[in-house]
Amino acid sequence: MCYSFPNMQFENTLAFAKKMDREDPLKAFRKEFYIPKVKGKDSIYLCGNSLGLQPKGVEKHIMTEIEDWRKYGVEGHLHARNPWLYYHHLFTQPLCDLTGAKKDEVVCMNNLTVNLNLMMVTFYRPQGKKTKIILEGSAFPSDYYAVEQQIRFHGLDPKDSIIELLPKTGEVTLRTEDIIDTLTKNKDEIALVMIGAVNYYSGQFFDIKKISESCQKLGLILGLDLAHAMGNVELKLHDWNIDFAMWCSYKYLNSGPGGVSGVFIHNKYANRPDLPRFAGWWGNDEKTRFKMEKHFVPKSGAEGWQMSNAPVMNMAAHKASLELFQKAGMKNLRKKSIQLTGYLHWLLSSHQSPVTSQLEIITPSKPSERGCQISLQTKSNGKKIFDKLTRAGVIADWREPDVIRIAPVPLYNSFEDVWHFADILSSALRSK
Ligand SMILES: *Cc1c(COP(=O)(O)O)cnc(C)c1O
Repeated sequence: MCYSFPNMQFENTLAFAKKMDREDPLKAFRKEFYIPKVKGKDSIYLCGNSLGLQPKGVEKHIMTEIEDWRKYGVEGHLHARNPWLYYHHLFTQPLCDLTGAKKDEVVCMNNLTVNLNLMMVTFYRPQGKKTKIILEGSAFPSDYYAVEQQIRFHGLDPKDSIIELLPKTGEVTLRTEDIIDTLTKNKDEIALVMIGAVNYYSGQFFDIKKISESCQKLGLILGLDLAHAMGNVELKLHDWNIDFAMWCSYKYLNSGPGGVSGVFIHNKYANRPDLPRFAGWWGNDEKTRFKMEKHFVPKSGAEGWQMSNAPVMNMAAHKASLELFQKAGMKNLRKKSIQLTGYLHWLLSSHQSPVTSQLEIITPSKPSERGCQISLQTKSNGKKIFDKLTRAGVIADWREPDVIRIAPVPLYNSFEDVWHFADILSSALRSK
């Protein structure tokens, strides 16, 4: 994948940032969101990697379900404007568009770590010498806990069964060739490879296509945690032959705190009723679900992994948000994102800036190797710098011990946001 930059000549002026915003074909989407205020003024919200902002349409979508519940009671399952029995079907097409999946490969359900556990029930089947799980050394703690406990669940010791992918000494990001080398060397002992497609800490977007090709050659199962990839980068999960994946919807997908998750299961597995899984009535064939019969007959497709009925109130927010993604198109969003984050990167690394001497950008500088997030490692007084940003109206994210994560998202952030942020950061560093 090669994202060549349009020969953009960036300038470090507010006038330039404003001009970029005027020419931005996606500029109207900012008005679809509520921007939190700080001291009565719009904040510079750069935290969509942690919790996306509220689309203005959310209230209407939730009210629709509240009204139909009031009006129909239980009959809303069939007679609501969006019948609750089939509510999860509303997400099939938008999720296919965001993940590059076929219709039988996705379903919207549960929360992320729950889904990670459910997917490991099916795809982590240690046998003989093949017992190990590979994951990034800097994996998100929740993923690490889930992996550790799944290993124990099979009566194995996590000490012997986890292989961490670690950067070379003195480096922060992982090199694709090192990942592939680890896979190759350990192939006879690996039961599962788990990777966060975009690492939450460094912002690195891995070369998923290449890693997947290696996994297939070596006969290894590859699962992706897309928490920081969904709605951030373009994905082609079916074509890349990813075995399974899951994500959350409250980060770049702007579907609200605790927003519903989703999974992808490649259709070489999704239609296999023989695959082991945990079950519940919502995963059962709809024809027999309400006959209340005793034996579980899984629905075909990823929907056969559902357990419980759909959390409609929570999904209504998801519906409002995904409508915006459908309107904007992920391809266009990614195009803008590359420019927006490119501008941020350029401002932070331009030589006028005192940033370069006091902070290190640990996110890869190549657009194809990152999403919208840039992670800044502070050399000293990191928390103090961060607090100054907060007082100046910037909402960003602090990760212990020393990293500030900045995520300009193409749906609602502007070039002006990025310019003001860089300006506030350099004043904060100068006034130390
Ligand atoms: C945000 C995030 C989670 C959070 O898990 P929940 O189950 O949604 O609370 C897990 N893993 C990764 C990689 C994340 O970025």
